[in-house]
Amino acid sequence: MDYISTRGKVEKCGFIDAFLMGLANDGGLVIPSEIPQISEDKLKEWQSLSYQDLMLEIFSYYTNDEIPYEDLKKLVYDSYSTFRDPAVTPLKQINEQLYVLELFHGPTFAFKDVALQFMGNLYSYVATRRNEIINILGATSGDTGAAAIQGVRGKEGIRICILHPHQKVSKVQELQMTTVQDDNVLNLSVKGNFDDCQQAIKELFADIEFKQQYHLRAINSINFVRILSQTVYYFYAYFQIAKKQNVGKINFSVPTGNFGNIFSGYLAKQMGLPIGKLILATNENNILERFVKEGIYMPGDFHSTYSPSMDIQIASNFERYLYYLNNKNADKVAEIMNRFRTEGKIEFGPEDLAKVAQDFVAEGVQGQQCLNVISKYDKDYGYLFDPHTACGVAAYETHSGKDEICVVFATAHPAKFNESIALVDIKQQFPAEITQLFDKQQFQTVIDNDKQVLVQQLEQFFA
Ligand SMILES: *Cc1c(COP(=O)(O)O)cnc(C)c1O
Repeated sequence: MDYISTRGKVEKCGFIDAFLMGLANDGGLVIPSEIPQISEDKLKEWQSLSYQDLMLEIFSYYTNDEIPYEDLKKLVYDSYSTFRDPAVTPLKQINEQLYVLELFHGPTFAFKDVALQFMGNLYSYVATRRNEIINILGATSGDTGAAAIQGVRGKEGIRICILHPHQKVSKVQELQMTTVQDDNVLNLSVKGNFDDCQQAIKELFADIEFKQQYHLRAINSINFVRILSQTVYYFYAYFQIAKKQNVGKINFSVPTGNFGNIFSGYLAKQMGLPIGKLILATNENNILERFVKEGIYMPGDFHSTYSPSMDIQIASNFERYLYYLNNKNADKVAEIMNRFRTEGKIEFGPEDLAKVAQDFVAEGVQGQQCLNVISKYDKDYGYLFDPHTACGVAAYETHSGKDEICVVFATAHPAKFNESIALVDIKQQFPAEITQLFDKQQFQTVIDNDKQVLVQQLEQFFA
């Protein structure tokens, strides 16, 4: 398997190089040169596999044997030993039509752990094997930073520095990042907002000399290994249902911001998993809903919502789908993205929209609707959804047929977003791991929003 860029201007590379590259050097996104096809027989065979063994099978199509089987096996098993549920992502049935796949049993109680626990181990493995140090630098508005730190803490050959806006992330998110004592973790709490943090990081990465001198790598949602890690639970969820009943196609409803989690589903479908509709659930920040329904991809006004991890204006993984929508024409993708940069929007014709509709439907769920869903399912089924998951459930109600089966992804544990849960007068019990965070010592350096100060901190930490 070779890896290429959606814009076609990068030489083919192997799995590990694709992993290290993150964003492709021509500004595009890394994708496999072809999508492996899994036969029906193979799918049957995989039904009884554990989560870990299923991941090994899926990855074997993508890794080119660049990682010896026993090494990969250890990486996978180590990565999910930190999860609180032996099934890794357990599936819960709510009613005849509706299942919930709980993706929040990792260290930070949100779905990003599934990919980032593995990627942390893989970075460390690659660093050790190549005898080099990997320094990760990133900015976060909350969830990604926490998951990345938990994935990297205490590991050999790798250090991580995460910037977050001072007192502008949720308390639980702040504690998940800053109560980590390992020497290879630096939390910088910047007196500014998320955009200030993001801007500072962008400038540092644009400084090629600085970037090379300190071996900087980015964390973000565009790494292909992250996408691939997330395909595993689509297969896993499908198999848990197919094991006990005769099913054809199953719909998946996915709370989405950067088009990452849902693109993993598109990939699973292209590989041959019988997925019906991919239901794209967003909130009032609905650029993806407007794309699917109206054929216009254009950032709208920013809204603060009950589901802040989906408050996203531009979906960083969208370009991957654009590549397939345009029949793998990389030149055309490059041209469209270029135009997007200058004109600020992409328009799609009826032919494109018909093609989109073969795989996706979309719903931008409004705040009140999100709260209503939380309330209703708590009352009717005794199941408490976090607000991101509730958007997924609302979208399922609108778009999944009465006789269709749908799996909704629970992307976060409700305890992580108690501010919204409290609005509907529900008192929840917090998991001990979250309560205990409040008694732990915090390790962070509060700094002014000043490039000089930031560079000084980094030179010290990455030296
Ligand atoms: C990051 C996140 C999302 C959005 O995931 P994407 O891959 O960006 O689509 C949804 N829910 C939660 C809780 C998240 O942390």
